This record gives sequence, C-alpha cells and structure tokens, in this order.
Amino acid sequence: MNREELLAVDRSHLWHPYASISAPPPVNLAVAAHGTHIRLDDGLELIDGISSWWCMAHGHNHPAIVAAIRAQAEKFAQVMFAGFTHEPAIELAAELVKHTPAGVNKIFFADSGSVAVECAAKMAVQYQFAAGHPRRCRLAALRGGYHGDTAGAMALCDPEGMHQVFHGYLQQNFFLPKPRIPFDGEWDESEFKPMEELLDRHGDEIAAVFIEPVFQGGNAMWFYHPMYMKKLREACSERGILLAIDEIATGFGRIGRYFACEYAGVTPDIMCVGKGLTGGSITLAAAIASEQVAETICATPPGKFMHGPTFMANPVACAAGVASLRLFDSYDWKAKVDAIESQLKRELAPYREHPNVTDVRVLGAIGVVELKTPPSPERVQKLVRETGVWLRPFGPWLYTMPPFVTPPEEISIIVDAMGKML
Ligand SMILES: *Cc1c(COP(=O)(O)O)cnc(C)c1O
Repeated sequence: MNREELLAVDRSHLWHPYASISAPPPVNLAVAAHGTHIRLDDGLELIDGISSWWCMAHGHNHPAIVAAIRAQAEKFAQVMFAGFTHEPAIELAAELVKHTPAGVNKIFFADSGSVAVECAAKMAVQYQFAAGHPRRCRLAALRGGYHGDTAGAMALCDPEGMHQVFHGYLQQNFFLPKPRIPFDGEWDESEFKPMEELLDRHGDEIAAVFIEPVFQGGNAMWFYHPMYMKKLREACSERGILLAIDEIATGFGRIGRYFACEYAGVTPDIMCVGKGLTGGSITLAAAIASEQVAETICATPPGKFMHGPTFMANPVACAAGVASLRLFDSYDWKAKVDAIESQLKRELAPYREHPNVTDVRVLGAIGVVELKTPPSPERVQKLVRETGVWLRPFGPWLYTMPPFVTPPEEISIIVDAMGKML
C-alpha cells in the first residue's frame, strides 16, 4: 500500500487512543525508530520527547533488547504459563527481585499496566477474604490519580478525570483529596487528616489503598510530598489495610530512584510495574505481592490466586524485560536522570514568567509546564513538524519525559519546542 492508501485505511478502520473515529486527529506515519528518534515516512525525524508514552527508557530499538527479542522469537514466541515455565520469565523474576523492596517478591506477570492493576486489586480483595474479612472488598484511592483504563483500574482513577462517562458501570471506591503539599514543600500534618478519618470510619470495608508514589501522572502531572506515603504506610499497617503502590509510570528510574517508593523508604504490600519494564519495547507488566499477602491468599480456600491471562509471562516480552533490566545495571542511569533533571530545572524555569503558564515543575526525567490555555491538537501537530520534536500535551499539561539517553543538546531542543507551544 502507498502512503495515501495506508492513511485511508487507518482513517476508515482504526481507533487511536482517546480519539474520535469520525473526526480523527492528525497521525504521523512512523517507519523506523532508533535511539531518541522516530522516523516518519516522508523522512522527517522526530525527537521522542515523551519516550513513547513514558516507557522508552534506553531509547528506541536498543541493540541489546532487539537481540534478546530476536533470539527468543527464534526459540519460541509463546507457550502457555499454566503447566510450563521458561528461562525468560525466571530470569526476569530474578532481576526484578534484586530491586523490589525486601519481602515484595511474589511476581504475577500481566499483559499491560491496567491488567496488573486489576490483578493487584483482586489480590487485595482475595487477601482480605482469606484473612477473614470478606466485608473488606472496596478500595480507596487519591483524587488526581490514574491507574489505567480497564474497569477495575478506572474505578481507582480520579472520578472527575477522563472516565466520567462510565461512572454508573464502575465499582464505587473511596476517594481522598489530592495531596496538596509539593514534593519539596514543607510537610504539614493536616495533609494526612482526611485519609486518617476515612480509614477510621470505613476501614472495615477497605481492602487496600492504591496510590501512585510521589508522582501522580495521567490525571494530575503532580509531584507530592513523600511523607504522605510514610504516613499512609503506618496508617494502613495499624488497621490491617493493604498498601498497593502503582509504580507503572514511576518505576525503573523515571523520577530519579529505581522505584519511587524509595523516596519514602516505604515497603508496599502489593506493587505494580509496567511501562519501562521491557525498556518500552513490548507490552509487559506485573503485580508483585509481599510474601505475607501471597501466603495468606494461598492458605485459605480456594488456596490459589484466581487469575490467569492467556499470554501470561510471554517469553519474548520477558526476554526483552531481562535485557532492559540488565541495561539499567550496565550504565549509570541515575547520573543521566539527575543530569536531565538539572537541565530541565534550569531551562524550563524562564517559562514560569510566561502569561500562559501557571506552574513549572521538574522531578527526575519529567518536566511539566502547566498552562492556562493549552494549544489545539492542530497547532501541536504543526509545531511538532516544524520543531522536529514529538510532544503530546494533554489537559492543561505540556510535559516532557525524554529517554534517559537523550543528550543535553536534544534536551535543549525539546525545551525550545515546548516554549513554542506556550
Ligand atoms: C500507564 C499507567 C497505567 C496503565 O498501563 P497500561 O499499560 O496503559 O494499561 C496504570 N497506572 C499508571 C500509574 C500508569 O501511568
């Protein structure tokens, strides 16, 4: 098919994420990607300023990840995980538990971040059931939170966020105010009062509290004070409520720690990982339970965790994950993330004075400019082509999350392109 035919079929038949099918937004036809660049069919090279939805930690098509995928595909691309196991899943488990908090090491592989959140929610409910608290089957989460697009995950997202249409379809969970105190602000005990009150009043109905650690992404692009997580850990432990930490966006170095829960020294009962797990190359995620949660679930009939995806622990995806996690150990990713952080802090700071800007905030390899009036999709597309930088603002947020391997010159180009979108 030539370019026009390809795009005609795309327009006639393909849904794109959060997009109209009758008035489709502009799309770029990608033909190759390498390092920090995505190449379009007309030869234009775009710097990927958002790591292809926050995933592409080491850059596109990293040779080590490509080689791992190719080698595994030639051995076998898939085998069911019930009744079988394989080296890629086992090696990935061994790599993961080197980095998870002590005792959080019972890994359930899932196909995507949202499915990992579903699994974590089911684990929490099944844990309470097994522990003799069948009434504890609701969840609590934060306003401003984002946990995915499937029903259980949507029911944990900010109820005023992007899923309002589905209100009547969703499990009704408890919501707490969005944490107000910024990451580097001064802690004030009043911040935690609403959570404490909720857990006191409804603790006997709540299986777990779900949070994104320190960075609320898809519904807020906001960095909050790590003390909140510390207090939450204590409050949950005192009441037998589980703490589930969604590290899907933050995990694997994105905000300057391998896992964001390290900022608060907090050990979750269940944690979710995804996005960066395969270095952004193939979909794979996991819900990881603590030994105590896993063993409690399995000590009471039905005596097993009731979930089992068809493509669980897909060998090609796991092989990509092993290669990606070994890459993290092979270069100083933290130095790179720290350097991106200082450069973004320095170069984004002047935008604070712009009349269309309400806030600028940076942590790790994430830079956010909050706008009064966001640019239209058409204007964004025009500027993407003019500047050669791929950015995709949403809501009031114009942001960058570059691959960790982005050189300083390209960070400056990204920052300039953001300036043009103000
Ligand atoms: C992206 C994201 C998800 C959902 O992951 P998918 O792979 O898109 O299903 C869940 N939680 C957080 C915090 C995320 O950023």
